[in-house]
Parts: sequence; structure tokens; C-alpha cells
Amino acid sequence: MNDADVAVLGLGTMGSFAAWELSKRGQKVIGFEQFAPGHDQAGAGGESRLFRMAYAEGSDYVPLLMRAKEQWEALNEITGLPIAVFNGGITIGEPDDPFLEAARQSLAQFDLPYTMHNGRQAADLFPQHRIADHEVVLQDDASGFLRPEAAVAHAARQAALAGAELHTHTRVESVEVGDHGVRIITSDGVYRARRLVLSGGAWNSKLLHGLTPMTEVHRIAMTWFPMREPGLFTPEHFPIFVRTFDGVHFCGWPMVDGTNLKVALADGWDLVQDPDHLDRTMPQDLFAEIKHVVAKTIPGVIPEMSRIGVYMDAYTADQHGYVGWLVPDVVYGMGGFSGHGFKLAPVLGEAAAQEIVDGESRLPIGFLSPSRFSTSSTTRDRLPAFQRRIATASAAPVVSV
Ligand SMILES: Cc1cc2nc3c(=O)[nH]c(=O)nc-3n(C[C@H](O)[C@H](O)[C@H](O)COP(=O)(O)OP(=O)(O)OC[C@H]3O[C@@H](n4cnc5c(N)ncnc54)[C@H](O)[C@@H]3O)c2cc1C
Repeated sequence: MNDADVAVLGLGTMGSFAAWELSKRGQKVIGFEQFAPGHDQAGAGGESRLFRMAYAEGSDYVPLLMRAKEQWEALNEITGLPIAVFNGGITIGEPDDPFLEAARQSLAQFDLPYTMHNGRQAADLFPQHRIADHEVVLQDDASGFLRPEAAVAHAARQAALAGAELHTHTRVESVEVGDHGVRIITSDGVYRARRLVLSGGAWNSKLLHGLTPMTEVHRIAMTWFPMREPGLFTPEHFPIFVRTFDGVHFCGWPMVDGTNLKVALADGWDLVQDPDHLDRTMPQDLFAEIKHVVAKTIPGVIPEMSRIGVYMDAYTADQHGYVGWLVPDVVYGMGGFSGHGFKLAPVLGEAAAQEIVDGESRLPIGFLSPSRFSTSSTTRDRLPAFQRRIATASAAPVVSV
């Protein structure tokens, strides 16, 4: 006798939205989370996430992003909270910057509005950034940012309101996969379900080793800088940005705490050997690059960090997530979002629920199918040289987070 139609392992970013979508469709859902939805110990902490409509990672994402934007707006309405803020976005770079051009093409392909500014125009429009005459700026209005902790907590709450039974502070110790269901051994008992959604983020490969595509867990640090002119950096005045400067690819969010600007390297920092032991300290010398670009490009901040946050995400070999059956009709995997999955959580939750309940999804998620991986794929050789260097660096003075 099953305890549920679907068990959801991990009520983080993807699991909370999947649990909600499944519950909405009348499935009996049981969910397990080792912490509590909205925690900041894994993929979803740090106050804000970019929502980029201009998507250099591939125009395949754009239809999903358009649907996700509607869903984020609906979540704002349901909760009465500004969980998603679509205050626009800019991409700053050299005219031949491949990231910028791919971002522009993704909008053009779907006839979405955007504006290209030359450096002089952009410097007038966005005085918070130091922009050189030879640089160009792609601006679009459909981008913005999300509040991750609130988003996850409220998606899980909606799942519970729709009937899901959520076990928080309950760790899944192991899962036994059979032909017709799963047996889930947790810190508070053993449960059975007809199907399992594996949404354990950085833990997926550890939990069901051999069943998931191979991933590596990257440690990603966010850095906050005190501002000299906070009024210029509110969401109304300061779109999210992605920029390449002096070879460093970085991004930033408007001020949400009233005093600090958050900036991050776009490509993460180094590797995590075991997600149960995330080192939340960072060697001081790792921050030279980010301090350099902030000092050079954002004159309104004091270029010394006031705060650091360390989180993690699982990366696949091609740096796209996987969403689909790992064991046909029994284990459905959602993982490997490679540092850019948050914005997609509502639409991927919907797609997963459609595939699980209806047998297929009307959403174009085929490019995320886990079947595209061979079991031997690894991201190690794809890491930028900087990260490889850091991954093997010896101990250096450490900054406490
Ligand atoms: C610093 C940083 C910045 C990012 N910036 C952006 C951005 O700007 N825009 C964007 O779209 N994306 C961004 N991303 C990526 C995005 O946040 C992640 O892709 C996404 O949060 C991953 O979701 P997930 O559901 O796979 O993992 P998580 O959200 O980490 O959820 C996994 C959950 O499973 C739980 N779990 C694991 N094992 C067990 C167990 N045994 N028992 C019970 N529970 C368990 C965990 O506690 C966790 O809650 C960023 C990621 C990081 C780390």
C-alpha cells in the first residue's frame, strides 16, 4: 500500500514547485526536505536571482522563460508579495562579445523587444555603470529578479494548501527503486510511493548514484558591496546586469536590503567534494577579480565587500539541467541546473507534473531530457582555467561568511 502517488525528494527550488503542480492536479504528494523550504544551505540562498529573458545559453529556453514569467507574476498575485520584480535587464560588453550577441539573438528569434545602445548613450542612461564609448549595451524590459527564499517557501506552502503532505527537517537516508514504485527510508520512518521526483539539487547524484547524469557540484559565492549612493541602485533605477569586463564575466542585482549592492562572478568559483560539507568560507585572494571589476565599473560602491554568501549548484557536462524520467514511470529527475535554473522553477515544475500525470508535456522541454547524456560525461575538463586553478589551490587566508 503506497503512502502517496508521488514522493518529492528535496523541497528546494524545483521540488517545491513540482510538488505544488502535482498537488494541483489531484496527485497525492508526499514531500521530504532535510531543512525547511526557503532555507539558504544549497542552491537557493542569497536574497536574489536573475531572471534573464535575453538568454545567451540558448534560445530553446525562451518559450519556457515566457511561460515562467507569467507564473512568477501569478505567484506575486497569490502571495501579495513582490517575489518577482521585472525591472528590466542590461547586458554590457564589447560589440563582438559572443555572450551579448547570443543574448540578443535569443530575443530577436522570438520577436521580443530590445534596444541596443552605443557606449555613449548607455553611459547617460545607466550612470551607475562606467561604460566606455566602444562598448555596447543590450537592454530588454522582460528581465528582472526573483526572491529565492520567499519563492521556495511560498511554492511549498501552496503545495501544502493543495493537499501535499510535507515532511520538513526530515532527511531521506536512502531510496530503493522497484519496477512499480519506490521505498523511501527517512530519518522519521519508511514511506512508499508509486513514483519519485528526485529534486535533491547538489545531492541528486549522491542519493541515486548511477541513475542520474554525472554532475559536479560548484561552489558559488555572492558578494555584497556597500554603496555610496544607494538611491541610484533601487530596482526602479537599476536593472539587473550581466557584463564582461577585462575578461571577467559577472552580474549584479539592484539593492534589496537598503544598503548593499550584490555582485557575483557569473561562472562560479570551485568544486564541492561533498554537499554535506559545503565550506562556506572563501580564501581572500579569490575575490581580487570581483573587487577589481567592481572598482573599475561601478563608481557608486565602496569596492570592499561587506558580506559574502556561499552556495552550491550541480553542473552537467553541457551546463544545461536535466528534466525527465531516469527510470521510466518510476523516478523522474530534475537536476544539474548549472547555475541558471532558478528562474525556470515554475515552468519546469509544470512540465514535470504534466509528464508524470498526463504522460507528456505540452511545454518544449525535450532539449533538457536526461537521455542526452552518456554515463561517462563530466564537467571537469570544461571548467574555465580560473576555476581549475582555484579547485587545486592550497590553503590561503580565509574570509568568514
Ligand atoms: C550562488 C548562486 C547564484 C545563482 N544565480 C542564479 C540566477 O541568478 N538565476 C537563476 O535562474 N539561477 C541561478 N542559480 C541557479 C539556481 O539557483 C539553481 O539552479 C537552483 O536553485 C537549483 O535548484 P534545485 O532544486 O536543483 O536545488 P536546491 O534548490 O538546492 O534544492 C535541493 C533540495 O533538496 C534537499 N535535499 C537534498 N538531499 C536531501 C535529502 N537526503 N533529504 C531531504 N532533502 C534533501 C536540499 O536540502 C534542498 O532543499 C544560482 C545558483 C547559485 C548557487
